[in-house]
Amino acid sequence: MSTIKTRIAPSPTGDPHVGTAYIALFNRCFAHQHGGKFLLRIEDTDQQRSTLKSERGILDALNWLGLTWDEGLGVGGDNGPYRQSERVELYRQHANFLLDKGLAFPCFCSTQRLDELRKAQMAARQTPGYDGHCLSLSQAERKRKMQSGQPYVIRMVVPKQGECHFTDLLRGEVTINWAQVDMQVLMKSDGLPTYHFANVVDDHLMAITHVIRGEEWINSVPKHILLYQYFDWDAPEFCHMPLLRNPDKSKLSKRKNPTSINFYRDMGYLPEAIVNYLGLMGWSMPNGEEKFALSEMASAFDIKRVSLGGPTFDAEKLDWLNGRYLRENLSDEQFALRYLQWANSDDRLGRVAPLIKPRVEKFSDVIGLASQFLDGIVPVDAAQFKHNKLSAEQNIRILQFSLWRLEHLDTWNRDLIEKSLLDLSEQMNLKVRDFLFPLFVSISGSAVSTSVLDSLSILGLDISRARIRHGVEVLGGISKKLAKTLEKEFRAL
Ligand code: GLU
Repeated sequence: MSTIKTRIAPSPTGDPHVGTAYIALFNRCFAHQHGGKFLLRIEDTDQQRSTLKSERGILDALNWLGLTWDEGLGVGGDNGPYRQSERVELYRQHANFLLDKGLAFPCFCSTQRLDELRKAQMAARQTPGYDGHCLSLSQAERKRKMQSGQPYVIRMVVPKQGECHFTDLLRGEVTINWAQVDMQVLMKSDGLPTYHFANVVDDHLMAITHVIRGEEWINSVPKHILLYQYFDWDAPEFCHMPLLRNPDKSKLSKRKNPTSINFYRDMGYLPEAIVNYLGLMGWSMPNGEEKFALSEMASAFDIKRVSLGGPTFDAEKLDWLNGRYLRENLSDEQFALRYLQWANSDDRLGRVAPLIKPRVEKFSDVIGLASQFLDGIVPVDAAQFKHNKLSAEQNIRILQFSLWRLEHLDTWNRDLIEKSLLDLSEQMNLKVRDFLFPLFVSISGSAVSTSVLDSLSILGLDISRARIRHGVEVLGGISKKLAKTLEKEFRAL
């Protein structure tokens, strides 16, 4: 048997998600338990949404957690490049191979035709999907359309009847009807591959033996298996991990809970405790011990011990475990050292100094003014918001709109924060003072403090977001109905 190789293939389209770390952890343990290798590649073929900033954030977060990889971006290896945007020629060659064999075809259908088709299928209660219209074009017609410069995508041929069977390491045999599988687009009209195509080509070329990923991909397996068959390649083993859930069992999402690894870093959790906690998501040590190191997990790892009931990512349990790490794993000296490292990460104290220096008379005054920069989610109550004479709903609106604006900043610095918030206050027709007030209260938790713009820039997006959200909750929260209204109003600004 060839060397076991697993991979993580994140798309760089947002903050580093705890779900990515969870899947990375299980892939890494599986590979290392078998003496194999763990690879990382970046799936950045969605040009609209992929950013280098997000890619950097994901790599930094995984490294911070100690979930390092043996091959891939930043590490190197024989199968690079490890960024899909740099492999486009390879996908093109593979798509041409399928076209030549008649296993894929160019599709010239317009978006309008596809929209109408979908609508008609929905109205007739059929599974929406491509109807094979361009399959019947003759070679001559295809050539003529291509030469006339008509835009096209490349789709794969998919059988209409029968069933696809495959084995999932956790679920056993899975059966999916081919009728449910769409004639997937492999190459888009912009010449870039889709996820499905690039993913299969890369997993093969990078010699991946086991694909361990989130369960949201299970319905894609038939397309992938078919591609392996078309190329006459051996398919890897598939294993679909249960998704992380909120305590109310809904899918873990940043609407309900912080999901960015950076939030947990900035709150002062230890990376080793977070990794241990992720190891408890659907898995347990054979001896039932809940506290274990990454190396212990890797040596005892057995994928069959993953249970399929949706694992709950519960902040309280993480607190409990992190507390044990602080108490049991760190000497007093180490505790002090790691606290100081955390408190001064990114030169935080250096950046706070010019803000508080003008307002103190002696060092013992410092902690009172600086505490908000070393705090997590600061306590606030509804009465504190009353000062600007705006209604609770209006204050919620300011907080939510500000958050949406801040989340879209490319770079987190004071000037950009200031500009985006001042623009917003103007668009909302509010006096700057009234506008900034609910932000000030939510961020500082107090009536006197340094400028909220400075505070935001030092605290970073993740802690700021959590405090703003807390402010919104204290003011009564956002019902589903209000959320809809707010989204509409925000888009209209
Ligand atoms: N790029 C995909 C993601 O971000 C990878 C899925 C897979 O592992 O196949 O989830």
